[in-house]
Parts: sequence; structure tokens; C-alpha cells
Amino acid sequence: MTQKKPDLATALIHHAYEPPAGFVAPQPAVHKASTVIFPNTAALRARNWKSKAGYTYGLHGTPTSFMLEERIATLEGGLQTLLVPSGLAAIALVDMALLKSGDEVLIPDNAYGPGKELARNELAGWGVTHRFYDAMDPGSLTAAIGPATKLVWLEAPGSVTMEFPDLPALLRVARERGVTTALDNTWGAGVAFDAFDLADGQGVDICMQALTKYPSGGGDVLMGSVTTRDEALHLKLKFTHMRMGWGVGANDAEALLRSLPSLPLRYAAHDATARTLAQWWATQPQVVQVLHPALPGSPGHAHWKAVCTQAAGLFSVVFDERFTAKQVDAFVDALRLFKLGYSWAGPVSLVVPYDLSSMREHPAWKGTLVRFSIGLESADALITDFEQALAASGLA
Ligand SMILES: *Cc1c(COP(=O)(O)O)cnc(C)c1O
Repeated sequence: MTQKKPDLATALIHHAYEPPAGFVAPQPAVHKASTVIFPNTAALRARNWKSKAGYTYGLHGTPTSFMLEERIATLEGGLQTLLVPSGLAAIALVDMALLKSGDEVLIPDNAYGPGKELARNELAGWGVTHRFYDAMDPGSLTAAIGPATKLVWLEAPGSVTMEFPDLPALLRVARERGVTTALDNTWGAGVAFDAFDLADGQGVDICMQALTKYPSGGGDVLMGSVTTRDEALHLKLKFTHMRMGWGVGANDAEALLRSLPSLPLRYAAHDATARTLAQWWATQPQVVQVLHPALPGSPGHAHWKAVCTQAAGLFSVVFDERFTAKQVDAFVDALRLFKLGYSWAGPVSLVVPYDLSSMREHPAWKGTLVRFSIGLESADALITDFEQALAASGLA
């Protein structure tokens, strides 16, 4: 007599086997879900998606996303973190949660460009005005704050031009006027300085990061985070987060959980190599300025020194005006180890030439700027690459 097979369509879904509990491994499990199953109607009716006390729906959190949120909160020195699909989405979340028609937002002129574009387009369309201030002059922030100002963005250092602002001074200006502050902490990554405790126990209200950069470290994940210490502020952000439907994929969260333990080591390695290379450029006759906050002579170096112990593996050089943009492009194209592409903080060194006049209201330098993101290759190999590219492009 043969045993009859069960109804396969049902048996393969409602299977009786449960693996034993108690499995422990170095890497956390990856939970994937849109639907979360409740044990009974009472639990379903009592669901609470506002805290990590339980689960309601994949978009509102899984063990995997909760675990990553908690680790990013620790990295930033905050209490609560929200995850979004990119660093830019994290900027958008902060703007959308805190600004309504009639409000004004202040943004450093040297801030990450796409965040400025969001203010010029969508925010302007919704009746939110913006002003760009000079982050290197706290007086410029004082002058820009008006009765409609509801949010001050900070970024340290400035994107591409790398000027390091006096963060405690800017913070003081915003606090005196009772305006909420949000820092784009992508460069510091939670490692270089403590954004929630910059001076005298005072810190920013909101820390946002492109986890795409150092926390991922692979050049293969897009994700952003928004971290706070204040519960009311967190809930305000969380409601907008929920209404916008900005969830993150479990596989991306897994990649971040895998990369995070090596973040401090990688950051230190990128920092050490970048400083060596920035110092090398400082001795080269082709460039008029090396922009690296840890280098004496770079704009805001003293402000960097006052709050930072480390620096990211990122710096820019400004070529002398006598070199045309075309000549500088030829140098960039002659590089072999440095790959041409946006973003940074991965193992591969990257390079991008920038036209400053199209990026800043008041560019401080004439001439072509080239930004380097230093990967994990050896400093010697990267210097050899610079030397051969300068020679090959006739700039040596
Ligand atoms: C890359 C970056 C962002 C945006 O991150 P994405 O994940 O690429 O959207 C925001 N701010 C800074 C300073 C960045 O470098």
C-alpha cells in the first residue's frame, strides 16, 4: 500500500516543519516581508507601527531593518533612525517632514547639489522658499534667518570644495533663533566627529547620512538614514516616512549589516591614504590649492581640527588657470587606477572634474577642480598613477 502524497498546492505553503529555534551565526538573519502575519485578531487590532515593540507590515519594519536602524543610531550617537532608499531621499524626508507652504529653509551654498535642486524645484513649487548662505561665515547665517525660517541645513565639509565650517558657531546661531538644524553627515559617517555633541553637550537636531557611502563601502548599495535624539522630532519624521512609503529592501539592509563592522577600519584606511596623496599634491606645481580639511592651509582647517579626529578619504585639487579644462580632462582620462564616476567611499578610487562656476553662486577659485575619492589601493600605486597621467597628458 503506498502512502498518498498530500495536496501539494497546499502542503508546500502550509508545511508542518519548523526548524529548531536557537540558530546563532555571526551574520544576522535576513527577514523579507511585505505581509507580516499576526497570531490572532486581538494582536492585529493592537498593532502599533510607531515603535519597535512589534511588527505590522514590511514597510514599517522587519527584524532586519530594525537591527540596521539601531546600529546606525549607535553609529551617529542618536536614539532613533529611519531608513530610506537613498541619501537624497533622506534629505527629501527631512525637508518634507519639517517644511510647509510659507516656510523657509536655509542651505549652505556649498551643500550637496541635488539637495539644492530639490529646494529650487519641488520645495519652491510647494510654496517653501529657500536661501543659500555662506557656511564659512556664521554672520551670513545670522543675516539669512528670518521669521519664516523653519530649518537650517548644515554640511561639513562642503561638497566638492571641502571647506570645513565652524559647526558649533553655526549651531549657536540657529539655536539662538530656535530653528531646527539638520546635518548632512555623509562625510563624517558618524566616525570623524560626534554631530549630537559638537560643543558643550550641544549638537544638531537631525543627522542625515548617505549610507551609500562609507557604511556600505562597496559602491553597490543605495540607502539613506535620518537619525534624531528627540522622540517628538523622530515621530514627526516617522509619520512622513510612513505616508511617503519609503521602505528599504532586505538585501540592501543585509549588505549594510555586513559592511558596518569594518566601517571604522575602512574609514581610517581611506583617511590615511588620502592624507598622503593630498600632501603629495600640495608639492605639485600644477595645482594652486589642495582642498582637504586635515591639511593646514585648506579652508576651515582650524574648524576641522576643533571637532574632528579623522577625515574621509576625499579631497579636491584646483589646477592652475593656465591649464585649460580640456588639458585637465586629458589628465583625468589618462588615469588608470582612478575610475571616472560619481559617489565615493568604495574600494575603487574615483575621480570627477568639476566646473565650479556652474555649482556655486560665488565660486572662490578660478580654474578646473578635480575631486578624488581615495579607495583602498596602496598610496604608492595611486601616486604612480598620478605621475604617469600628468606625464601622458603633458601636464608634468
Ligand atoms: C552622495 C551624497 C548624498 C546622496 O546620497 P545618494 O545615496 O547618492 O542619494 C547626499 N549628501 C552627500 C554629502 C553625498 O555625498
